[in-house]
Amino acid sequence: MNSAHPPDAGNELADVQAFDDLVARIYADQLPAATRELALALAWVCTRDPDRHKPDAGPSLHRAATLLGRDENGRWRHKQALAEDAPRYEIPRHFRVPGTCVGPRLRPYRARTAAAAPTPRERSDRDLVCGATARLNVTEHDMHTGQVSEVYWFCRRHAEHADRVRNQIDDRGTPPTALPNVGGYLGRYFNHVGLIHAYTSVLPTWTTPAAGLCRDDWPHPADVTRSPRRPRLALVISAG
Ligand SMILES: [Zn+2]
Repeated sequence: MNSAHPPDAGNELADVQAFDDLVARIYADQLPAATRELALALAWVCTRDPDRHKPDAGPSLHRAATLLGRDENGRWRHKQALAEDAPRYEIPRHFRVPGTCVGPRLRPYRARTAAAAPTPRERSDRDLVCGATARLNVTEHDMHTGQVSEVYWFCRRHAEHADRVRNQIDDRGTPPTALPNVGGYLGRYFNHVGLIHAYTSVLPTWTTPAAGLCRDDWPHPADVTRSPRRPRLALVISAG
């Protein structure tokens, strides 16, 4: 769908008002810099750019891409902005940094028992953990949000212990697909069909999250209840 239409005074005024409203919302929002840049360019090409009336104007995303151009390394700015904004789940950085082994401190003088290993959470005394450089990890997911809730790190000597912890976690079943926690800002302003085309043009393997394209629609992980969506007008963009 294209926003081009014959210029007349009524349409021009409506477009001016739509542009003002959109730009005010974009500037009032807390957006990543690249996302804001693309949102403003799309607002311009859809509602104010004189070329939008030309029959061969082309998709609004292409015109916004031309406006933004490339960065100093030759990369298209609009592609970077879309890749950044594509709604998805990313494991938070602190879970990806290797920790130290949380396996039980080995005590050679004590006979090993056949009892089931306690989970790391059941152990509060840091003196009882191994603390060696960790090479293995076991990831635990929240069974409601599907997001990573904990990563347990183990050294090679505690590989068997890591397996036991993994089995305990696996016994809880398969977690749901993780709620997205990254991107989703453009969904506040632009129509979702156009955005899906735009995201997949940059990230071919990207898929639409079940929770939706707009981050305002995502349930908050703390309560997993749907947050109220602010009623807003979505501007139609075309991506191809
Ligand atoms: Zn260890």
